[in-house]
Amino acid sequence: MIKAVIFDIDNTLIDFLEMKEKSLGPAVEAMISKGLDMSKEEALERIYKLYEKYGMEYKLIFQEFLKSVGQFNYRILTAGIIGYRSKREVKPYPHMVDILKSLKDSGLKLAIVSDAPNIKAWMRLSYMEIDDLFDVVVAFDDTKIAKPATLPFEKAVAELGVVRKEIFMIGDMPDKDVAGAKKMGFISCFARYGNPKIGKEESGADYEAEKPEDILKIIEKINS
Ligand SMILES: [Mg+2]
Repeated sequence: MIKAVIFDIDNTLIDFLEMKEKSLGPAVEAMISKGLDMSKEEALERIYKLYEKYGMEYKLIFQEFLKSVGQFNYRILTAGIIGYRSKREVKPYPHMVDILKSLKDSGLKLAIVSDAPNIKAWMRLSYMEIDDLFDVVVAFDDTKIAKPATLPFEKAVAELGVVRKEIFMIGDMPDKDVAGAKKMGFISCFARYGNPKIGKEESGADYEAEKPEDILKIIEKINS
């Protein structure tokens, strides 16, 4: 019997990669309009390379990018930051809000365990107006250690007050979300819809959601 569901945020509740793409396009266009001498395609490619190196949450990405191509100046930098923020859109996957509400209505506790810094995790939940749906939110600053370490999950379990085998955990990263859930003795679910780059590799999870609606179906099946 599942009594609580733990969600990852990025690429599980929200299409993080699409959100990045929508923000980066206007950012690069703004930098080009202020003198960045490079095509949009090349700039985007270089920025994504830097994200791969420093992580998707890297704060100084435009500074690093402009310096790496020998074109740093504050006029271009600030135009880029403003362009990035102008098109910020934090949208949950289709049906996700209804799925969360119906889980909540059926009496399940809901939690977040995210590796995003607290301010970013909370901003995303608030943007989507789903922060009130979660009984527990554990983000990076709470334990200062990333998944699959057990500490963030242990904190969530303690706050949920639910035994481990009655917890269902869903996330898009096999090596973090699924591996962490399995170490904890949760029922694990891989969000296969989340990150196309992960492709068709084996997730090792107990269950797989091809689309967000599957989450509800899987949980209803287990609990029936
Ligand atoms: Mg994720």
